Amino acid sequence: MTTRPKIAIIGGGPGGLMLARLLLLRGLEPTVFERDRHAGDRPQGGSLDLHAETGQQAIARAGLEAEFRAVARPEDQGDRLYDQNGTLLFDRDGAGDNRPEVDRTALRQILLGSLAPMTLRWASKVDAVTPIEAGGFDVVVDGISERFDIVIGADGAWSRVRALLSDARPLYEGVTLVEFGFAAERHPDVDGLVGSGKMFAVGDNRVLIAQRNGHRHIRGYAGLRLPEAEARGWMSLGDDRIRAMLRDRFAGWAPSLVHLIDSGELIAVRPLYALPIDHSWQSRVGLTLLGDAAHLMSPFGGEGVNLALADAVDLADALTSGDGWGAVAAYEAAMMRRARPAAEGAAEGLAGAISAAGVAAVLDQYRQRVEA
Ligand SMILES: Cc1cc2nc3c(=O)[nH]c(=O)nc-3n(C[C@H](O)[C@H](O)[C@H](O)COP(=O)(O)OP(=O)(O)OC[C@H]3O[C@@H](n4cnc5c(N)ncnc54)[C@H](O)[C@@H]3O)c2cc1C
Repeated sequence: MTTRPKIAIIGGGPGGLMLARLLLLRGLEPTVFERDRHAGDRPQGGSLDLHAETGQQAIARAGLEAEFRAVARPEDQGDRLYDQNGTLLFDRDGAGDNRPEVDRTALRQILLGSLAPMTLRWASKVDAVTPIEAGGFDVVVDGISERFDIVIGADGAWSRVRALLSDARPLYEGVTLVEFGFAAERHPDVDGLVGSGKMFAVGDNRVLIAQRNGHRHIRGYAGLRLPEAEARGWMSLGDDRIRAMLRDRFAGWAPSLVHLIDSGELIAVRPLYALPIDHSWQSRVGLTLLGDAAHLMSPFGGEGVNLALADAVDLADALTSGDGWGAVAAYEAAMMRRARPAAEGAAEGLAGAISAAGVAAVLDQYRQRVEA
C-alpha cells in the first residue's frame, strides 16, 4: 500500500460516509460514489438508535458530537407492547437510557456536511469494479473507468463489490414489512398509541409497529409472513390493493390497531433479507467491505447501522495504521466476530416476534432488558 493510496468508497450510506469522514480527518482524500442523485432523492427510512460502544463512539471519533446532540432525540427511547386486542401489556418511557434516537436523514445530513467538497459524487451508480493485473481496480460509472488502489464496498444489501470477494447472496427471511408514514398532528389516535418512542402490537405471526421520528412524524410498519414471490408481487401493487390485503391479514385485530393500516401514507413494501450468519471471505489486497454489504441482517436486532458505523472506525484505523493489508485482514476478522452475535440476535428476534407465541416472546425480551 502506498502512503497516500487512492481510495474509492462505493456507497454513501451511514457506513461509507463515516469512513470518508474519518479518512479525511487523517489527511486522505477518498472518493465516495453514490447512486442517489441528491440527498433528498428517496425516503431514507425511519429512526435509528445509536448505541454507546458502536454508533455513538463513531460519532465521537468523527468529531461530530455537537452536531449529533442537536438532532438526537433521547426523549424517544420508550417501548410499548400491545396484544392484538389492543390491550397494553408493557409501557416503559425509557428515560435515562443511553440509546438516543436519530432520524436517518438527519444522521446522513450530519455526515454529508462533514465532508470536503468533491468527496462525494452523487448520481454515480457503480456498474462494475474490475481488478487490474498490475494491482488496483477500475471503478466503472456510466461506461467511464477510473483507477483506484483500494476499493471499499459500502454499498449495502445488494452490494456489487461483495461479488468480487464471496458468492454469498442475501436470503429472504420469510417476513415482509409494509411501511407507513403519519403526521402526528393529523393522527392524534396514532400519536396516543405510540407513547414515548416505539410501540409493537403482536399477534399470531403478525406485528404492527409504530415509532416516533423527528418533526412530529411517526413511521408505522405492518409485518407478516409472506412467500418471497408474493412479497415481491406486492411491491408492484397499488396502495389500495396492498391495504386491502393487509386488512384481510389483520382481520380480527382491534380497530384502534388496524387503523394504522387504513390511515397512514403508504411508503414502501420491504421484504427482509439477511446474509448467512457465518458469511466471511478470503482477504484480498485492495478490496474490502463494511456494513450491510458484509453482514446484512434483519432490523429486529436494531444493530445494523451501529455495526456499519463501528466498522468504519475500525477500517479507518486499519487503513491508516501503516501495517499494510494485514491490518485490513485483521479488521475483517474482527468485524465478522462482532457481527455474528448481532446477526444471531436479529434472526432470533424476528423468529420470536413473528411467531404464534410472538407476544410472549416480545414481552419476555422487554422484561429481560429492564432487569439487565
Ligand atoms: C425497515 C428497516 C429498519 C431498520 N431499523 C434499524 C434500526 O432501528 N437500527 C439499526 O441499527 N439498523 C436498522 N436498520 C438497518 C440499517 O438501516 C442498515 O444496517 C444500515 O443502513 C447499513 O448502512 P450501510 O452504510 O452499510 O448501508 P446502506 O445504508 O444500505 O447504504 C448503502 C448506500 O450505497 C448506495 N449504493 C448501493 N449500490 C450502489 C452502487 N452500485 N453504486 C453507488 N452507490 C450504491 C445506496 O444508494 C446507499 O446510499 C433498519 C433497516 C430497515 C430496512
